[in-house]
Amino acid sequence: MAKVAFIGLGNMGGPMAINLVKAGHDVTVFDLSEQACAQLREAGAGVAVSAAEAATGVDYVLSMLPAGKHVAGVYLGDDGLLAQLNGDTTVLDCSTIDAATARQVGEAAAAMGIGFMDSPVSGGVAAAAAGTLAFMCGGSAETFVKAELILGDMGKNIFHAGPAGAGQVAKGCNNMLLAVHMIGTCEALEMGARNGLDPTVLSQIMLASSGRNWSLEVYNPYPGVMENAPASNDYKPGFMVDLMAKDLGLAMEIASQCDFDNPMGQLARELYAQHQEAGNGQRDFSSILQKLQG
Ligand code: NAD
Repeated sequence: MAKVAFIGLGNMGGPMAINLVKAGHDVTVFDLSEQACAQLREAGAGVAVSAAEAATGVDYVLSMLPAGKHVAGVYLGDDGLLAQLNGDTTVLDCSTIDAATARQVGEAAAAMGIGFMDSPVSGGVAAAAAGTLAFMCGGSAETFVKAELILGDMGKNIFHAGPAGAGQVAKGCNNMLLAVHMIGTCEALEMGARNGLDPTVLSQIMLASSGRNWSLEVYNPYPGVMENAPASNDYKPGFMVDLMAKDLGLAMEIASQCDFDNPMGQLARELYAQHQEAGNGQRDFSSILQKLQG
């Protein structure tokens, strides 16, 4: 079992850290929120007074933070964690952040001989609690071998996407596609319903035809079609519009950095930004159906 520091114990990091405790690892945590730390103390983790204290003498440092600026703040600079770690420690940042910051932290770690992987996840709070997350990792093959040993206690699909930053690029590609097929699914269902079709029957038809996709299969956006989907529960998340809007912003940065014009992704980003600005940020992302319905 490994000695692990876990930094950032929010909606995702909290249950992920608890799964590491349950798997028998020696886990020390740090979060700016005392309440978040108290929950982990109850679950059996040690609580440190700073990220630096948590990371002293550990095999792995994991982090699950809101955005690139938090990750840069924790790891970079004279006071950052990289300056105090040695080559025996593997750093896995599971946050969803911009690929440029992930590469910057990866390069800084490599220069100090420390193994780093950006390891963003797919799957929300329920998957974090169930230990069924998918991890998309960016870093060296050598670091990936070490990463797999611990990520397997929090998830079931672990991919090596490429060098540092590649995990964030994979996540951006996936979530851009998710937004596009969710919006397309909503459009198709609404067009059918306005022509008198039953959305449940139309869903069955498209599921057995070439329109089949994940949104139709497990996350139908039309209320009443799928009992357990957020659409049938007043669009309670699930995956919030705020998070989809954030991820689409990151995807647009990835596209512009490689000088790629992505019209479908851009339109999806615009529609989700408008939906967010209209006060739907805390609702499930499948509520974009209601925007299309006017
Ligand atoms: P959250 O806001 O619930 O948690 C973030 C935690 O980080 C908070 O507890 C905060 O106090 C802590 N924090 C911030 N700065 C810190 C610092 N300097 N040191 C220590 N702790 C610090 O966010 P979340 O929903 O857990 O999401 C975390 C990351 O996971 C984000 O990048 C998000 O995009 C990604 N993500 C979230 C979901 C989801 O469904 N919530 C799904 C996939 C990926």
